[in-house]
Amino acid sequence: MTDTGEPLYVAISLDIDPDANAAVKGQYDALSSPVRHGKISTDACKKGLQKIFELLDIYTIESTLFYEARTAQILGAEGINLPKLSERHEVACHSLKHEDFLGKISGMPMEEGIVEEIIKEAKGILEKIFARNIRGFRAPYTRVNHTVIKALEHAGFQYDSSETVSLGATWAGKPFSLNTFGSNLLELALPSFLDRKGKKMSSYLWTIFEDKRSSHEYIDAVLWARELAKGGLFLFAIHPWHLYVNSQGSPFRKEQVNKNLKNFEYILSQIKQMQGVQVIRQDTYLENWLKLNKSVKETKQ
Ligand SMILES: [Zn+2]
Repeated sequence: MTDTGEPLYVAISLDIDPDANAAVKGQYDALSSPVRHGKISTDACKKGLQKIFELLDIYTIESTLFYEARTAQILGAEGINLPKLSERHEVACHSLKHEDFLGKISGMPMEEGIVEEIIKEAKGILEKIFARNIRGFRAPYTRVNHTVIKALEHAGFQYDSSETVSLGATWAGKPFSLNTFGSNLLELALPSFLDRKGKKMSSYLWTIFEDKRSSHEYIDAVLWARELAKGGLFLFAIHPWHLYVNSQGSPFRKEQVNKNLKNFEYILSQIKQMQGVQVIRQDTYLENWLKLNKSVKETKQ
């Protein structure tokens, strides 16, 4: 049953990683597209991230920042004060170098010991840079398996946020345990849902920037979710670089960049003022949910 008095919670999550990154055959780490250049770029990520921070400040929105540890190191070395900019936000982990853990593209599924090492190292680097505990993880390409989930548990993560689940009759946006991976780790899943024509959508906003969808469709989705997922969490996800370059790594023209910024700002302004909707960090949502669930359990005993 849903609690009728509760709002729909909405979180803005950022996957902060190299520009137009892609997995590469024969290696674990991601490169920026076009991958034949053999390198990564973080220029678009840097510009996009700075713009997003400005917008989040304007709309006083606290978000969840999934940092790829390598990208955080590079931006830090370029003089960006990430700890200061990230102060009001949750800092979470998006791997070390955007590894293709499952080997889907690399053709080299990573062994348990290596996965454990990489995830621990990434968490350690971020905890050192930001001087705080890291609790959340989102996998590169949102791909996890038994090995990755176990490694997250061993590294002391509290939750994963990589799975996509269809929002509707059987799931109303609440956290759940990853029993399917034999784990008690909690999942804050990304929602998928249907547009007005019945076509599947995910909550990644890139389709707007590549002119495949309009920002209104995402606002429609929130309005729809507000009715059926009260008390649940609706996640939005964005790559900062995607405001400036497309997924092939080609820079957008200035007009397109302005349009992208406008569309993203439109979404922030809408969700911020929407009745029955509360914008929240993922860790804050989870903390509240755990407290609530604990008291429900205690009352039942
Ligand atoms: Zn990523």
